[in-house]
Amino acid sequence: MYMNSELQEIFELIPLGLKKAGRIGDREIHTNLKIQNYIKEWIENSHNLKPISKNINKGIDTGNIIIGFENPGKLNALLNRFKRIMTPTKLSGIMGFYNGKDKKLVILLDENVDFLGGAIKNIPPIITHEMMHYAANVDTKKVYSITKSKYLIPFYRNVVTNLDPKTAKITDSVLGKTITNLMNYFEKDNSLGAGIRDAYNVWNLFFDELDGSKSDLSLAMILPYFAYIREMRIKPKHTSIAKKVALSMYSSYEQLGVRNPMNLSTVGQEAIYPSEILAVINQFDLTNEGAKVINNIRMRNR
Ligand SMILES: [Zn+2]
Repeated sequence: MYMNSELQEIFELIPLGLKKAGRIGDREIHTNLKIQNYIKEWIENSHNLKPISKNINKGIDTGNIIIGFENPGKLNALLNRFKRIMTPTKLSGIMGFYNGKDKKLVILLDENVDFLGGAIKNIPPIITHEMMHYAANVDTKKVYSITKSKYLIPFYRNVVTNLDPKTAKITDSVLGKTITNLMNYFEKDNSLGAGIRDAYNVWNLFFDELDGSKSDLSLAMILPYFAYIREMRIKPKHTSIAKKVALSMYSSYEQLGVRNPMNLSTVGQEAIYPSEILAVINQFDLTNEGAKVINNIRMRNR
């Protein structure tokens, strides 16, 4: 079989000789140096990641960012790649997550991942997205101070105003306190274990400034998240209010310059995790503040 340089490259990237890179929850991640180096090089040459590529590559070198496969599946990988050469298909094949417990950002590749084509293009936005969660976990205060006035306060201000115009009388400093409460409860280093009721309570404290229906408003704030984790199995009487909050969240994204937010994300997490807003804003268009937040993460050897 004639092997041109592109095929040669494919063969070099076949996930052979995968080694255990770590585990996240109950998942075991496997990787090898070739994959890591290929992706590092790709990141260095990726325009959108230029301002943060140094720190991301340091994260890969120190093992704080793991890029690999869940299952070595050598033979399947090989077979699938042969199939790909015959009938090229583009699969996204990439999933990213940050685990605050292990302090690791994991980019999980499908064994069919098309390194030379489409899928690898999804790595930069996914890394950027997860890095914002990473930063919010390890340096909560700094992330808030860098992003509050330009992004976080305007985002939530728009949502609560749509929910009840009377919230205009609640000051930015009370809203800011609500945001930091959420970050401290749900995103900070040692914040594991807080439940959805805590989020409800944080929002109750905010709407406390109004008279009357504060508990309805607090419930409304967390409904889209509830719908998101329960896959829309919320009570029909709550559906319209959940939609209203969700639409307000989309409009907040649009106001902050995110184009087509509906294609990018399912809203809901924003009422619990403020860093989701920063993650969505930065994933395709890295802002100066986003770069600052990401470069602020100290990639220590572990
Ligand atoms: Zn996210």
